[in-house]
Amino acid sequence: MSVWADLVGQGRAIAELSHAAAEPSAMTHAWLFTGPPGCGRSVAARAFAAALQCGQSSAEGRPGCGRCQSCRTVLAGTHPDVREVVPEGLSISVAEMRALVQIAARRPSTGRWQIVLIADADRLTEGAANALLKAVEEPANATVFLLCAPSDHPDDVPVTIRSRCRVVPLCTPSTDAIAAVLAERDGIDPSTAEWAASVCGGHVGRARRMARDDEARARREQALRLPLTLRSFGDVFTAADELIGSAEAEAADLSSARDLAEREALAIAMGAGGTGKGVAAAARGAKAAERDLERKQRSRATRTQRDALDRALVDLAGFYRDVLVVRFGAAVAFTHPDHLPDAQRAGAAWTPESTLRRLEAVLSCRKALALNVKPRIAVEAMLTVLYTG
Ligand SMILES: [Zn+2]
Repeated sequence: MSVWADLVGQGRAIAELSHAAAEPSAMTHAWLFTGPPGCGRSVAARAFAAALQCGQSSAEGRPGCGRCQSCRTVLAGTHPDVREVVPEGLSISVAEMRALVQIAARRPSTGRWQIVLIADADRLTEGAANALLKAVEEPANATVFLLCAPSDHPDDVPVTIRSRCRVVPLCTPSTDAIAAVLAERDGIDPSTAEWAASVCGGHVGRARRMARDDEARARREQALRLPLTLRSFGDVFTAADELIGSAEAEAADLSSARDLAEREALAIAMGAGGTGKGVAAAARGAKAAERDLERKQRSRATRTQRDALDRALVDLAGFYRDVLVVRFGAAVAFTHPDHLPDAQRAGAAWTPESTLRRLEAVLSCRKALALNVKPRIAVEAMLTVLYTG
């Protein structure tokens, strides 16, 4: 199985990347992988990192065999010369980036390249982007930066960094390609795979979750039930409670075990329960580290919650889009083909203008959340428009 096996429907990008990995003399030191969420930006970057470190050629004579020690450790995230940054909080900090840039300047220890992979380059703070820019401007000989972002628009990646990167655009994989991967690689039964692929909006990970996770399915149903059940202002507040409560519950589920494990690990690292000289100073240091960890965990919880809420909003936006598609008889695929009867009912009952106002309300709510507006305020404002139309 070559390193590219997990990349769905990206033939052109794979050809370009494996060609580049086979020609190290013409190496570009900074790459930018762009494409909509879920299309496999970080999967592609990781596969490319493996191909660059690969010691052997695959059957087709291209690097990235997927079997050698280098390939396997890169894909498992344990290769000593591949650093991966996945920002867990709301952004990547300057301190994190400076540390990374320093490591990037070192010579590789065992591999051919010193590789730094930044999964959400669009979440760099301005200071972090500046720290990165210096390294990208004058890269060490054997250093390669792999950045991932939704697009190469200046909102996502500063122009100064973008101009030094070779851009690899990935496309939204087709429904058929996603269904095939779910069935063949993950062993999901074909009809579930097809359904999941048809409702995932081109997001491979989401398709997988939809196929396997009952809770994820239930949350989607909850969001899609909303449009036709708002019948009074009272419903607006009940629905807001539901949406926010469900996002909070999902985030709490994801983080509680991890937060506790981190606190315990920190306590042990800080020598909890020790006696003797220096205990007081160590305790002060431990307090500071604890505060740091708490801050990090809060930031991560906020982001997880926001992401969960955003997924519900994307589902909702897809529903209103489908209502417009029904109304105008457009020859495009539905976002939620399994909720077509609801979209038809709404399409018959609402004017296109009011449907559009509702769609815009959902999109403004997403924007407001991204700008740190309190979720309850943004969601209630949205639901009011979804009710009144
Ligand atoms: Zn290999």
